[in-house]
Amino acid sequence: MEPTLNISGHTKMVCLIGSPVEHSMSPAMHNAAFAKLGVDYCYLAFDVQPEQLETAIKGLRELGFAGANVTMPCKTHVLQYLDELTPAAELMGAVNTIEVKGDKLIGHNTDGAGFMRNLDNHGVDYKGKKITINGAGGAGSAIFTQAALDGVTAIDVFNIKDDFFDSTAERVKVLSEKTGVPVTLYDLADREQLRKSVSESAVFINATRVGMPPLEDECTLDEDMLHDGLAVADTVYEPRETKLIKMAKAHGLITCPGVGMLLCQAALGEEIWTGQAMPIDYIEEKFYK
Ligand code: NAP
Repeated sequence: MEPTLNISGHTKMVCLIGSPVEHSMSPAMHNAAFAKLGVDYCYLAFDVQPEQLETAIKGLRELGFAGANVTMPCKTHVLQYLDELTPAAELMGAVNTIEVKGDKLIGHNTDGAGFMRNLDNHGVDYKGKKITINGAGGAGSAIFTQAALDGVTAIDVFNIKDDFFDSTAERVKVLSEKTGVPVTLYDLADREQLRKSVSESAVFINATRVGMPPLEDECTLDEDMLHDGLAVADTVYEPRETKLIKMAKAHGLITCPGVGMLLCQAALGEEIWTGQAMPIDYIEEKFYK
């Protein structure tokens, strides 16, 4: 029989805050994990716009929530309403997980840490090595910031040369100064630099939307840039195996599909709220197989 929640007056509450949230898998996923673990927690989703955020965060405190996840468009706006930030959340300027600890609200960012844990789970050796990442959006920024904190020696970041390119270059420069890890931004159209960066790297990461519909037949890396010893990771989890992951797999390389990052960042949230390890295999089987 499927484990179920037994909601009572003792049940601790966790929620998702952002907009839109109706499509989110988080409530189903976390409630299934709470039931499987037999912990007395319940997870709901609330549609909150940035202008409602201050009141919503006050509500977490007043109603005695155990914590929350924060999604778009609230991930950056929420910082001003929290009491403390982890070093990663502070460097990223974005929070996706709130811990309620006594009377304090602590902001975490588990996106980058979830990604790095997924690399660890696949036996990827990145410490003391260079990495290359395509995409400097929300996911990409979280990943390269956490990687800089977790022992890589250099990071080459590629992005389309759009209106935000110069401000991204400035952010990357500040990250380099604060962490002492050289992080360099390049134009994604500079294929020769991409080839050079990947040839010097132990890990290549796709953190663009390329690979998910309608771009499922595309890939931001050329096949002849792959080399022995390169681990290849994707942030895209729908489809489960992107063109990039299939291509790297065919070359016998270690591959880390995006679903692992998704599960690991959720697991880190559950550890923060409940102190227990999420049953990852059970959740993957139930929702992502
Ligand atoms: P985002 O902030 O909108 O960033 C998207 C990135 O993709 C930007 O760098 C963007 O470049 C780039 N991009 C978009 N279209 C492109 C194209 N045709 N060619 C090259 N680059 C392109 O989104 P995000 O939140 O970072 O999400 C990025 C991907 O990560 C999505 O597929 C998302 O599903 C996935 N993701 C996965 C997890 C997980 O847990 N596995 C978590 C978060 C996100 P511009 O700067 O020019 O817009």
